[in-house]
Amino acid sequence: MKTKFIFVTGGVLSSLGKGLAAASLGALLKARGLSVTIQKLDPYINVDPGTMSPFQHGEVFVTDDGAETDLDLGHYERYLGVPLSQKNNTTSGRIYYDVITKERRGDYLGGTVQVIPHITDEIKRTVLSLAQGDNPPDVALIEIGGTVGDIEGLPFLEAMRQLRTELGRDSCLNIHLTLVPYLRSAGEHKTKPTQHSVKELLSIGIQPDVILCRCEEPIPAEVKRKIALFCNVDEDAVFSSVDVKNVYEVPLKFYDEGFDQKIAIMLRLPARNADLTAWRQLIYDFDHPESKATIAIVGKYVELKEAYKSLHEALTHAGVANRATVDLRYVNSEEISADNMEKTFAECDGILVPGGFGYRGVEGKIETIRYAREKKIPFFGICLGMQCAVIEFARHVAGIAKANSEEFDPLGADKVIYLMTEWYDFRKQAVETRDEASDKGGTMRLGAYPCKVLPGTHAGDAYQKTEISERHRHRYEFNNAYKDILAEHGMIFSGTSPDGSLVEMVEVPEHPWFVGCQFHPEFKSNPMHAHPLFKAFIGAAVKQRAENRC
Ligand code: GLN
Repeated sequence: MKTKFIFVTGGVLSSLGKGLAAASLGALLKARGLSVTIQKLDPYINVDPGTMSPFQHGEVFVTDDGAETDLDLGHYERYLGVPLSQKNNTTSGRIYYDVITKERRGDYLGGTVQVIPHITDEIKRTVLSLAQGDNPPDVALIEIGGTVGDIEGLPFLEAMRQLRTELGRDSCLNIHLTLVPYLRSAGEHKTKPTQHSVKELLSIGIQPDVILCRCEEPIPAEVKRKIALFCNVDEDAVFSSVDVKNVYEVPLKFYDEGFDQKIAIMLRLPARNADLTAWRQLIYDFDHPESKATIAIVGKYVELKEAYKSLHEALTHAGVANRATVDLRYVNSEEISADNMEKTFAECDGILVPGGFGYRGVEGKIETIRYAREKKIPFFGICLGMQCAVIEFARHVAGIAKANSEEFDPLGADKVIYLMTEWYDFRKQAVETRDEASDKGGTMRLGAYPCKVLPGTHAGDAYQKTEISERHRHRYEFNNAYKDILAEHGMIFSGTSPDGSLVEMVEVPEHPWFVGCQFHPEFKSNPMHAHPLFKAFIGAAVKQRAENRC
């Protein structure tokens, strides 16, 4: 088998940045000229993260093929610059689901179905599927979610142990990420948590090959030596993963320590230096802004920044592309009313209303959009944000006082946003249907759909092309019954499905920049290529600031 597998496990505690570490290593290997893919194995029982609350789980990331995945897939796409798919993320739930389906079908011929070998075999099959096809990648990075020692993670670790034996040491490697705290009172780095977590791995038959130590300060050589000795790894296989102010610096920090070099040697990958010109340029641009823009994000999940991860990153990328610092202010839409509007947005150069589900906080968003429209503040509405922009325009410009979305007012008189029951799906080349019974879970318009862009609009200017593809995740759509009346009042439909049946982007007239889109452009933004809509939005906000301040 051509593909080499790198398993990344985590010890001591969660949130050490396994996803970022794996993605950064992926970026370095790619910069060495290798083809890289990546997969996240999540130990939880949910079959996919689509129905999990953003409060608990953070954002649901969506791929082109419509998979609802863990937000780490977003990091992977941003660092690797390649689109991923359903096969790049799986959960214990899905593995069990597949095994139980086979059992029901009689595939096991009445045999006893067990964690070992049936569940572990299914995991191995999923991992190995990455190396199939005509053009298998040189390297597959596999991140095992959770922390070593968790009950749920055991089948994944066992599958990894078996794969290492089956594929051999040249083809399989384990990087174990741990925490090395610096105790100020003692004035030293502490290695005991690392030793314990490696012991935990050893107890299930896994000797890590590389230890990556999350730390506040780089780890001194003698501490690395100690870790190497006690954990039984090469002295030059202990690396620091230092806290950084900018996450895009991680690949450069890893490179400086020789991380990718050591891994290439261990896996006998072709020797070649990583070309990091683009990464260095990116950090330079980050560090040398020429202007600034303050953006308010008006949403419901503001206490948990992870819920807006891709959005946050897309705005940051757009800042760099404009050579501007983007200062993000999260505003809880439930706390907004006409009375505190002025005060809330006094310092803001742009307002963004992101996606969301449910009625809570919606009226605050609609009020916010009215303010942005009337005061001519650059505005960007994404998914629910676009739907609210349509409701706002219908209510306050077109005089449809009861305009609402079917999601919030199912029996309402004027559902300008509604649940479409039948439409032609260009991606699947078939008619799709949806009814009330299929309203929960897995019935959304998901994944990449083509969109036709109207030239001469803000969207047209941003994209500079007329055919685009963007990712969706929603149930409700613009109701075409209101298209004419809204158009008569000036609403511009700057993006539609190729046959014109689905409205994908709206704008309002005589406004410096006001765009609502039904899709989620944030899923396709990349640090090296900021998304055109975000870039144009931040550009407009920077301009607004310059005009207001002079
Ligand atoms: N709740 C809306 C819908 O289902 C919007 C979803 C979203 O913003 N992702 O259509």
